[in-house]
Amino acid sequence: MAEIRIEHLHKAFGDFAAVRDSTFSVRDGDFFCLLGPSGCGKTTTLRMIAGLELPTSGRILLGDEDVTFKRASQRDIAFVFQLFALYPHMNVRANIAYPLRSQGMLRHDVQTRVEEAARILRIQHLLDRSVSGLSSGDRQRVALGRAIVREPMAFLLDEPLGALDTEFREVMCGELRALHDRLKATTVYVTHDQLEAMAMADTIALMNRGVIEQLGTPQDIYDRPASMFVADFIGSPPMSFLPFRGSVVPGDRSVRVDSVDIALPEVREGSADTELVLGVRPEHIELSDDAPLRAEVVDAEYMGTTQIVTLNTATGTSMKARIQAHIHVRPGESTGLKFRPGQLSLFDGVSGRALRTALHDGDAHG
Ligand code: ATP
Repeated sequence: MAEIRIEHLHKAFGDFAAVRDSTFSVRDGDFFCLLGPSGCGKTTTLRMIAGLELPTSGRILLGDEDVTFKRASQRDIAFVFQLFALYPHMNVRANIAYPLRSQGMLRHDVQTRVEEAARILRIQHLLDRSVSGLSSGDRQRVALGRAIVREPMAFLLDEPLGALDTEFREVMCGELRALHDRLKATTVYVTHDQLEAMAMADTIALMNRGVIEQLGTPQDIYDRPASMFVADFIGSPPMSFLPFRGSVVPGDRSVRVDSVDIALPEVREGSADTELVLGVRPEHIELSDDAPLRAEVVDAEYMGTTQIVTLNTATGTSMKARIQAHIHVRPGESTGLKFRPGQLSLFDGVSGRALRTALHDGDAHG
């Protein structure tokens, strides 16, 4: 297995830059997710790592080797795509064995590797079946078998669960992560599904319009979003934004929003008389009759142990709170909002960038 290093990678299609000056490393053995909305450049990045697309500029290193100009077949990398084409006329065994046969590996060694891959994926019982009769989940396991049998330095997976139905995707997410933990294989996984990325990744690179907006652990990205784009993309329901005009200076521990002082993690970076935005995750809002920041309950969606309450503040901002299901709320009633101070984010409303606070330095309380 090996580290993958991407240095100033750029890809233009005509005048359009699909990937812009991207620099990041995938640690040896990391489960690394490229996450982002449709068209943000995830697949283009992955295809360049695979050797299926030539970068306009920049370098790709696999281990210590510069593979930027090597063909896909010369890179010790295996990939699995959403609609992986298995050979319909071959059985499962022959499909998995195919990459080894084409390398000229001895029949006995091929057999051993195929049995081992099938055992890891728990598809031994399917080895002599035709692939055409298999369920989509089993077909994807065969595709994964074909990738792992090669024992490559890295795996590239592009939305490999995209064709599966929701229930089965959850099962396969767990299986893929368990498979990764066994093989400890450097893996780059492309998805637009934040829940999938949050559940599986060691590291997430969240992309927006060809640029990595934030790179970090799922928890970093959830708790300390670097921008409003990240805060909005991650989390279900996403972070609520409360816009206001004001100034902050380093050392401030509160802001004034709609004439109400709201405590927040100590500000470490100032901004004078500008559009600011307070960011609050749904689980950090409490409904409290005596809180001065008022809102009207719009509706409540029952989720089992919790409910998602949609609220409208006096200035017409819509917010979502996740509260215990047993708390009684009625549409139309007025309530007060309390926020957990140590968990609030503050953004520059013009650039969308997060202003640095004690939350980012890891010493916030509340
Ligand atoms: P999706 O999940 O929809 O595939 P993505 O994040 O993987 O999205 P890419 O497939 O990398 O996005 O595409 C990034 C942008 O580059 C898109 O706007 C796409 O239309 C454009 N693009 C990709 N390949 C080409 C190409 N061969 N020629 C021209 N434009 C392309």
